[in-house]
Amino acid sequence: MRILVTGGAGFLGSHLCDRLITEGHEILCLDNFFTGRRQNIAHLLQDPKFELIRHDVIDPFKVEVDQIYNLACPASPPHYQYNPIKTTKTSVMGAINCLGLAKRVRARVFLASTSEVYGDPTVHPQDESYWGNVNPIGRRSCYDEGKRCAETLFFDYHRENGVDIRVVRIFNTYGPRMLADDGRVVSNFIVQALKGENLTVYGDGSQTRSFCYVDDLIDGFVRLMNQEKTVGPVNIGNPGEFTMLELAELVLKKVGGKSKVTNLPLPADDPKQRRPDISLAKEALGWEPKVPLEEGLNRTIAYFRQTI
Ligand code: NAD
Ligand code: UDP
Repeated sequence: MRILVTGGAGFLGSHLCDRLITEGHEILCLDNFFTGRRQNIAHLLQDPKFELIRHDVIDPFKVEVDQIYNLACPASPPHYQYNPIKTTKTSVMGAINCLGLAKRVRARVFLASTSEVYGDPTVHPQDESYWGNVNPIGRRSCYDEGKRCAETLFFDYHRENGVDIRVVRIFNTYGPRMLADDGRVVSNFIVQALKGENLTVYGDGSQTRSFCYVDDLIDGFVRLMNQEKTVGPVNIGNPGEFTMLELAELVLKKVGGKSKVTNLPLPADDPKQRRPDISLAKEALGWEPKVPLEEGLNRTIAYFRQTI
């Protein structure tokens, strides 16, 4: 198949391009390089089945493809809050442009949505029927509401125009090719520990997240995209739940050195707990994560040891 991957030079997008190239597909990788890097996809540039397009998803584009994976959007809070209006435009206009294209060329189109649609959840763990608890006017809203609106557009194009959609809600994912200065917790802690700096735990560190290794996540994407029954939304994530203090201690134990934990103020609207209910992914896709946090951290630490 010919497959368009928007945000293909980013952390998740580049792993997805790798997987799809390995399966023999032809890839069009579209990215504006806001948080993506050429080096993430440098090894693919010589492949005749791989094409790189520098473009912004807020502007329309025309290509002939069979499938579209729409991943373009900064994902870490410092990056998506850097230009919040642009973040909302990226999610909303990007969705409209991908859906318009999918409608025209009759492609299947996939949205990389997020567990952030659940906001600071009052239901735990979160399953797909939960509508969320989202502040519409806070610092995280550009991302949360942008993704919620993108989901709305996907389902309206599906209902109104018969567009063939797939929607995944991604829970915190980590692995090689995260940016060292990305601001997300796994990369922050590993890079701080490797540099001998103190690990910056925000608040008292009792808030929880559930961390999925990137290879597991990408496998979930491909399964969702290539089955016929379920359009989604489907949670994809690892239900193992850890406090940020537990994560910091695990990273310290693995990296060694003199770093300690230091506490910094908790950012506004930081969700207190997050864990996916993955019953639907198990049942509809036969998917569940395979890489435990300890193993995924080993691989990610090895990557950052080489690159920073
Ligand atoms: P990332 O920042 O590494 O990748 C995003 C990519 O999109 C980058 O290559 C960036 O340059 C590109 N991009 C941003 N704005 C663009 C625009 N206007 N036009 C074209 N390209 C643009 O982040 P990631 O972790 O790889 O996330 C990929 C997708 O998955 C995002 O949509 C994100 O919201 C979603 N997601 C990720 C996670 C996670 O834990 N990694 C969790 C939930 C959702
Ligand atoms: N966090 C932290 N120290 C850091 C970066 C993040 O304690 O250096 C916390 C953050 O407050 C949040 C959790 O780790 O509670 C996950 O943050 P991240 O930005 O990775 O993802 P998100 O908040 O979007 O789930």
